[in-house]
Amino acid sequence: MFRGISFYIKRDDLIDPLLSGNKYRKLYALINTAPDTFTDIISYGGVQSNAMLSIAALCHQKEWKFNYTTKTLPDHLRNNPTGNLKKALELGMYLNEVSPIDYQDAVNALNTQNSTPKTLVIPQGGADPLAQQGVNVLADEIKNWMAENSLESLNVITPSGTGTTAYYLAQALPNVDVYTTALVGTTEYLKQQMLLLGKLPENLHFIQTQKKYRFGHLYPEYLAIQKELERGGIVFDLLYAPKTWLALLENIPLMTGPVLYVHSGGVSGNETMLERYRYLRVDCL
Ligand SMILES: *Cc1c(COP(=O)(O)O)cnc(C)c1O
Repeated sequence: MFRGISFYIKRDDLIDPLLSGNKYRKLYALINTAPDTFTDIISYGGVQSNAMLSIAALCHQKEWKFNYTTKTLPDHLRNNPTGNLKKALELGMYLNEVSPIDYQDAVNALNTQNSTPKTLVIPQGGADPLAQQGVNVLADEIKNWMAENSLESLNVITPSGTGTTAYYLAQALPNVDVYTTALVGTTEYLKQQMLLLGKLPENLHFIQTQKKYRFGHLYPEYLAIQKELERGGIVFDLLYAPKTWLALLENIPLMTGPVLYVHSGGVSGNETMLERYRYLRVDCL
């Protein structure tokens, strides 16, 4: 129960402490790949990214070398790594720092380099058709749970960064209304990213908050709703979940029938997010 409304929560955050949530789903095909298939994995993106930590955990298990390109770190972070970065480095990740001016060229080069057949490049955030197999498994679990509980209709909501999870989930659940909200950029931008994967499923709905939020920024109402959810018994991440819950609460009058929130993990990033909230003295509203 949250604010007097009942929600079902799919606890994908509990799959594994390092390889959790939708990153587990998106990397599922690789988790089930024989270790001798690859020797090297290459990826790129933000320095505290959840995807980075999950890939590092996967590579550690498989004994694959993991090379991660990111923009030059602030000195304090290089000298004293924290959060997801610290954990990923402990798992053997090799960090390749590139100046912000050269970053886009470096990323383009990673994607086009003639790498060996045993090297795999995973796009930022795991936005790749490779993700479909694992998201289909998530969809099957939801279908089975609906059948066991004789649910004929369902609304499923999950946040979107790259949109890969929401896209494949909607595709695999044509009889379910899937809702998502864009965390990175506008809804239009999110749709463009999804169109790279294929045509937009008709059962995929894009919801928004009245207020505009910028990805990675700190907001008192984010902290407030995350703490309120925690008091309700479940810890959510501070990057994606707060805006998704705000959008869900604003749009819930449009939904009929039960609502299932897919908890996409990412809780390991909370430590460094909370440090930023304390440092910038942003408190709850
Ligand atoms: C990575 C992540 C997302 C974004 O998933 P996409 O498939 O890129 O849309 C959403 N929520 C959490 C908690 C994440 O870690």
